[in-house]
Amino acid sequence: MKRIALLGASGSIGTQTIDVILQHPDLFDLVSFGVGTRAETARNLLKQFPDVSLCAVKNETDALSLMKEFPDKTILYGEAGLKTIAESDYDVLVNALVGFAGFAPTLAAIESDHDVALANKESLVCGGELITRALALHGRTLIPIDSEHSAIFQCLQGNRMRQVKRLIITASGGSFRNRTREELDSVTVEEALAHPNWSMGAKITIDSATMMNKGFEVTEAHWLFGVPYEQIDVLMHPESIVHSMVEYVDKSVMAQMGSPDMRLPIQYALSWPDRLPLDEPPLDLAKAGTLHFSAPDTERFPLLALAYEAGMKGGNLSAVMNAANETANAAFRNHEIPFTMIEDIVIGAVHDAPYGPLKTPGDLYAADEWGGEYAAAKIRKLN
Ligand code: NDP
Ligand code: MG
Repeated sequence: MKRIALLGASGSIGTQTIDVILQHPDLFDLVSFGVGTRAETARNLLKQFPDVSLCAVKNETDALSLMKEFPDKTILYGEAGLKTIAESDYDVLVNALVGFAGFAPTLAAIESDHDVALANKESLVCGGELITRALALHGRTLIPIDSEHSAIFQCLQGNRMRQVKRLIITASGGSFRNRTREELDSVTVEEALAHPNWSMGAKITIDSATMMNKGFEVTEAHWLFGVPYEQIDVLMHPESIVHSMVEYVDKSVMAQMGSPDMRLPIQYALSWPDRLPLDEPPLDLAKAGTLHFSAPDTERFPLLALAYEAGMKGGNLSAVMNAANETANAAFRNHEIPFTMIEDIVIGAVHDAPYGPLKTPGDLYAADEWGGEYAAAKIRKLN
């Protein structure tokens, strides 16, 4: 029985993780979880999973009412609550938080000698250097949940890392893949939230439309697999059936395919190195018929190029990029700025940032604050 701690239990990945756990009650047991503001989900999960002993919510008031309702459970709140869960007793942490809020629990879990199944890509984008160091120090494993990285992870099984020539990350292109740059000036939040292939949380759906998400995934792959940026390529693939590929020195290319359903990479992260049945119709390639691939247009999607630039320069720049994006992404969703302004803000932040090393969590928090404040100032000017 694998005892699972789940942060972000009320989100898109969190809900699908619960679904995977429920499909294999003899193998997986939920022992603790965290949600943000959706206290109703916490209430339901506390009733549904008797083995849960720890639960965290974002707000103190929600925590107080849950304490009254569930006196035999430990109810926590705020950032400290997430950290307490990350440091508690379990076998694997599923980090399905969104944004930089996921970094501290990822690091706390590793530093308290736990393996992490990671959906929260922002952890690695910002603090890849710190997380990689902690993993080595504590002899722990980070298992990817992001579909592209799960695909690469699956293509690496049974092969040798030193014989990898190239990682090829596929990209659907998001909601606006067929729009010109001029058309992007007037797109709405509702249009941006309608992803053609995947149903995901709001932030990542916008990040997919700007292709910031694909840039993040390049950075994420760099830290997860220890492959230089020069050996990580992005390939447009609108059908989202080939989830990513690995090319080896002999030019053999391994690809992982499947329907666009996040439960597969979530389940694989929990069952690895085993595979388990999943109640999903089999992939029908005859029905898919034709799969398309093309090179990405980095002029059309400048944030993809920016992620490479920030990653290759290193230091605090990817953390600044993430923070500026987090603020700009939220402002677009709040109808405070137009879509294309997200790009302007994030590019401006990376180019104007005082470059510095990222050796300590202090460096990281400073970079995060700087990037967030830079973006907020630009947004204030506009409103
Ligand atoms: P959602 O927005 O759907 O869910 C985010 C979760 O995090 C919610 O449970 C939310 O709680 C919780 N949360 C957010 N902020 C806080 C906070 N400060 N304290 C406590 N809880 C918090 O996001 P997704 O599930 O889409 O994405 C999660 C992560 O996985 C992201 O990093 C994303 O990039 C990555 N990912 C997602 C994919 C997908 O298909 N969705 C695919 C690949 C990667 P609440 O809602 O209760 O406030
Ligand atoms: Mg992905």
